[in-house]
Amino acid sequence: MRKETILYVEGVTVSFDGFLALKELSFYMDYGELRAMIGPNGAGKSTMLDVICGKTRATKGRVIFGKNDTNITKMLEQDIVKAGIGRKFQNPSIFSNLTVFENFELSLRKKTKGVFYTLLTRKTAKDREKIYSVLETVGLVDKADVMAGSLSHGEKQRVEIGMVVAQDPELVLLDEPVAGMSVKETESTAELILSISKNHTVLVIDHDMDFIKSIAQKVTVLHDGMVLCEGTMDEVQKDERVIEKYLGREK
Ligand code: ADP
Ligand code: MG
Repeated sequence: MRKETILYVEGVTVSFDGFLALKELSFYMDYGELRAMIGPNGAGKSTMLDVICGKTRATKGRVIFGKNDTNITKMLEQDIVKAGIGRKFQNPSIFSNLTVFENFELSLRKKTKGVFYTLLTRKTAKDREKIYSVLETVGLVDKADVMAGSLSHGEKQRVEIGMVVAQDPELVLLDEPVAGMSVKETESTAELILSISKNHTVLVIDHDMDFIKSIAQKVTVLHDGMVLCEGTMDEVQKDERVIEKYLGREK
């Protein structure tokens, strides 16, 4: 039988020189879930992702991942990628002077070899195939040889999502994937995330309520470094604490 829980974030505290960005935060995800996380600016959402992917160290608590219950709390970032966690950052991190295809190549090899090795090795037919299959998923096949810097904002975001998917992680973490997108771009990104979630466990952080509503089964509301509440979008929107602290009341 398949183990249910893919991720345990348990009692995680992050202190930045005494300022507590996360306060004994506990958060769990099941295999196959498409979860959304919302909450005001500064709630600690990105910090939580930083802890999961090893960019920021937990001051207290632990993070357990995967079918062997690997303790990843102190693992290096690249080892966490290898363990099966992929993350799209809030700010774009693609290389403008490389083509879309080359950006994908980099991302693919980062998982197995590290960046420097990547630049020196030739691509295999298998890599090519994999890259084209992901380009198709993100709808960018015809942009493969275009410089990434010349893409529209929406396309850049799709490249980034694709680069994460190309690493074939079990768990995909997306930090504000539709920020700055038009309504149409947001809708097509929602479709893209739904299709990714068929084969991956996905956590999406965002502020756009219509977007979250269109994708998420379960929503976690983070506030002040702690989980404020968790449930369906309907449940969360009716929660008094969420209305008070985040959504606000209709006037
Ligand atoms: P969110 O993503 O929910 O908007 P963040 O996780 O980015 O929130 O930030 C949570 C809090 O931690 C904020 O008050 C932010 O200013 C602070 N913070 C984040 N990163 C650092 C850092 N490297 N050093 C100091 N404070 C930080
Ligand atoms: Mg953030």
